[in-house]
Amino acid sequence: MKISIPFLEYACKGSWGKDTSYQSVGDAKNPKGQCAITSMIVQDYFDGEIRKIKVGEESHYFNLINEAIIDFTAGQFPMPLDYSNHISADRINFKEETIKRYGILKQRTDKFINDMDLLSKRISNCTICQCCGSCSPTFTHFGYDNRILLLGEAPAKNGWRISGRAWYEPSGKITATGKILKKLLSEIDLTLEDLPFTEAIKCTPESPKYLKFCGINCQPFLIEQLKIMKPQIIVPLGVRATELLLPPFKKFSDIAGQVHKTEFGLVIPIYHPSPISPLGYKGNLHIMQIIKQTLTNFP
Ligand code: SF4
Repeated sequence: MKISIPFLEYACKGSWGKDTSYQSVGDAKNPKGQCAITSMIVQDYFDGEIRKIKVGEESHYFNLINEAIIDFTAGQFPMPLDYSNHISADRINFKEETIKRYGILKQRTDKFINDMDLLSKRISNCTICQCCGSCSPTFTHFGYDNRILLLGEAPAKNGWRISGRAWYEPSGKITATGKILKKLLSEIDLTLEDLPFTEAIKCTPESPKYLKFCGINCQPFLIEQLKIMKPQIIVPLGVRATELLLPPFKKFSDIAGQVHKTEFGLVIPIYHPSPISPLGYKGNLHIMQIIKQTLTNFP
């Protein structure tokens, strides 16, 4: 499974805790006190250099990879950072206490990546449905904002599994659904491409008539994925993705836009943002505000 920078960032962010934070000043959501050990993990996976700058009296560590600054812990600061005077920071100079916290973070991030890799292998070798095309080992788009996981129905035949870029066609054009969703998310200052995305059904069924059948078969893979990724909020797009997460419901309008507590995280279903769905845009506008409000409850 290819490890991208956003994938590693998701793994690191989900692995932070008070026990990995310098003097316990940060926690599972706050990158404070996690910069040195996070820069070591990034170097483990992508080489490059560990660099540092002074922010006030404190040293702040990050990575330089192919001349690009990679900083997973910049979010702890309320202002943009000035990286112009960065200098080298060799990991051999880190203290024993830092190395100990690094060991905890390393074990957790490696486990996240290993669990996702094993799941990917099982999905790409799966033949349960017998009515799908190939099951791609790439089934998750990792963005830089890990608070929300967008959950589609099933991969489109000519969609991002082919283009390699979530929400974009191989021609480089954004998909019709992506265009509407991007507009909706911009209402609450979220960027479509920055949000992680996966589909409930991992393969492309040969006909829409197999969606329900494939959904039932694929549900255990989805649940396993959610247990690994632990998103704060899951936003399923439309009926099919929602019914694999919630108890049976009569009308989608009864549950759309409500905040449902589940063992995988909060689930807030929206109407499918497709151009052929009458509620795809207008019906979702007020739900975006509910998502925004729910996000404010998280630190
Ligand atoms: S859709 Fe899911 S259950 Fe069906 S073959 Fe693909 S991975 Fe297996």
